[in-house]
Amino acid sequence: MLLIGSHVGYKKDTGILGSLEEALSYGENTFMFYTGAPQNTMRSPINKDIVNKALDLMKKNDIDKNKIIVHAPYIINLANTDKYEFAVSFLKEEIKRCEELSMKYLVLHPGSHVGLGVDVAIDNISSGLNEVLKNSTVTILLETMAGKGSEVGKNFDELKRIIDKIDNKNLIGVCMDTCHLNDSGYDVSAFDEILDEFDRKIGIKYLKCIHINDSKNTIASHKDRHENIGFGEIGFDNLIKIIYNDRIKDIPKILETPYVLDKAPYKMEIEMIKNKKFDSNLIEKIKDTH
Ligand code: FE
Ligand code: FE
Ligand code: ZN
Repeated sequence: MLLIGSHVGYKKDTGILGSLEEALSYGENTFMFYTGAPQNTMRSPINKDIVNKALDLMKKNDIDKNKIIVHAPYIINLANTDKYEFAVSFLKEEIKRCEELSMKYLVLHPGSHVGLGVDVAIDNISSGLNEVLKNSTVTILLETMAGKGSEVGKNFDELKRIIDKIDNKNLIGVCMDTCHLNDSGYDVSAFDEILDEFDRKIGIKYLKCIHINDSKNTIASHKDRHENIGFGEIGFDNLIKIIYNDRIKDIPKILETPYVLDKAPYKMEIEMIKNKKFDSNLIEKIKDTH
């Protein structure tokens, strides 16, 4: 069965229950959320009552909580020494929040070295991860990055070097992002070859999630600007081939495509994905919804 969801909101009052209800309203059977705003580290305490209600509603809707993804705020940077202590302590708390929420996977951008160089960055990232993963029940998924600025994790070799240094390999994995793969220089139209390379270098069992986004930019642009499904440089047919690839059929597929005006595109994009048929009027149709 296709496991498809999107980035959904998380509000202080409704917590994960609100996130789940939003996902259900789009026809999703999994989803991804930040435990607060993606761009800051202000977080409120978890309400156990709301979590229990959400877990009940998941059961009623046949949603596997172990396929739901939490994303760490993207300003957390383990690669550079500047604010490193803050990044480590925030991540420890974020892992605790994931545990209170009964969530298994936390996606993390490996970070940007900002002049320190890749080698030092890889040492910083892996020691930070080893520290936060002590006594953790949550698995951290390193995201494949576009290679914008000094981002680390722009290819499988860099991710492998980080993973090699992790003490508890059960608590580390990878989240691919189709826009980032394209922008970093991978030809996603040959996705089976990408999986072959990933398996050879890292091991396919480490792949736990995939972000499905089209890209506004051409291959190797190192830009990281997401586009709606079928409206970018990757194109609908290539994304459908990835989404329905048998080798990753048990892995959650998460859309992080841009809002159209102020409207979430996910319900209509997911319908299009389930029908496997591109609708070139989709953007106009989303604009017309209210
Ligand atoms: Fe991300
Ligand atoms: Fe992503
Ligand atoms: Zn991105």
